Amino acid sequence: MTDRYVFDVAVVGLGPAGATFARLLNSSLKVIALDKKDDTEDSFRKPCGGLLADDAQKCFARFGLTLPVGVLVNPQIFSVRTMDLVTGYERHYQRFYLNMDRHKFDCWLKSLIPESVDVHNGVSVSGFKDLGDCYEISVTENKTRKTYYARYIVGADGANSVVRHTLFPNHKIRSYLAIQQWFPDEHESPMYSCIFDKTLTDCYSWGVSKDNCFIVGGAFPARRARDKFRTLKEKLTKRGFKLDSPVKTETCLVLSPRHPWQFRIGRGRCFLIGEAAGFISPSSLEGMSYAFDSAYRLAELFNNGKEVTLKDYRRATCLLRGKLVLKLLKKPFIT
Ligand SMILES: Cc1cc2nc3c(=O)[nH]c(=O)nc-3n(C[C@H](O)[C@H](O)[C@H](O)COP(=O)(O)OP(=O)(O)OC[C@H]3O[C@@H](n4cnc5c(N)ncnc54)[C@H](O)[C@@H]3O)c2cc1C
Repeated sequence: MTDRYVFDVAVVGLGPAGATFARLLNSSLKVIALDKKDDTEDSFRKPCGGLLADDAQKCFARFGLTLPVGVLVNPQIFSVRTMDLVTGYERHYQRFYLNMDRHKFDCWLKSLIPESVDVHNGVSVSGFKDLGDCYEISVTENKTRKTYYARYIVGADGANSVVRHTLFPNHKIRSYLAIQQWFPDEHESPMYSCIFDKTLTDCYSWGVSKDNCFIVGGAFPARRARDKFRTLKEKLTKRGFKLDSPVKTETCLVLSPRHPWQFRIGRGRCFLIGEAAGFISPSSLEGMSYAFDSAYRLAELFNNGKEVTLKDYRRATCLLRGKLVLKLLKKPFIT
């Protein structure tokens, strides 16, 4: 034990949850943060709508943070065009989203992490084991295998969380395959659309303008997801959407918890925040507000200076989980 450097906390993943958590921790804690993303073009990029909803904006107000204009894209959105492809219904409703470049936003959040945190970019965590007084964390960094040691692990590594899989190998949270494609935007006026079609998915699809591009995507049950995405595009093309020559295709897992007991907040001295814990709205797939909120609540516990327990964290996230349960009840009505 004597020649090992043991950090107080290891944060795995620096998306909105991990970057916020690392930013808020007291500088007296010895913190290491390990993130897959780096500055290179082919680095990990989260496929996302990149819309900052009202609840996430409220978190920014609580943090006293303002958003740099460099992360915003054209246009800013006040109206959502909602379409049901089966019934043909179409409505517009008012909503105040901030339309962002998701990758720039993630990089900006990371840039706010203080220097007291030892940040490692381009690092993939493959697993960890409990040595009793600390965890041994295995990573691949610069194509070599390394180990780090920490008393606590905070898993902020998103939907496909290695930390959650290591803690709960048999636990499953309902998930969809999200597929989205980027096209040159050739529409007369830019827009944000929410698209429902129960023959394709019991979740929903979207179309959003971002600078000179138009993104079309959907969250589909994994079986024949690509066929369903193709059918979605055909149906949208018939309705006047211009979807020729995609410039980029992105896919990833997106969680949509079905029951309150599908949330997982951690085990032992490992805690889960953000989507790694299953904290994402099952009705709208809005996840950033829950990422910020869970990160803030866990950081507050660490900053108290006492031992942090799962019981404390469970109590601290009680309202957040309650809010998600209400979204669960809303889901059948919204779709
Ligand atoms: C298609 C799509 C559209 C969405 N649109 C919106 C939207 O418009 N608005 C909204 O609020 N939410 C949206 N969401 C949900 C939102 O993206 C997530 O809920 C949110 O990103 C969760 O943040 P997080 O920090 O918990 O996880 P993530 O953002 O997934 O971040 C996880 C981080 O962990 C790192 N990582 C992963 N694995 C490892 C590993 N093994 N080792 C080291 N690092 C690792 C990655 O680099 C990543 O940065 C969307 C989701 C999808 C899939």
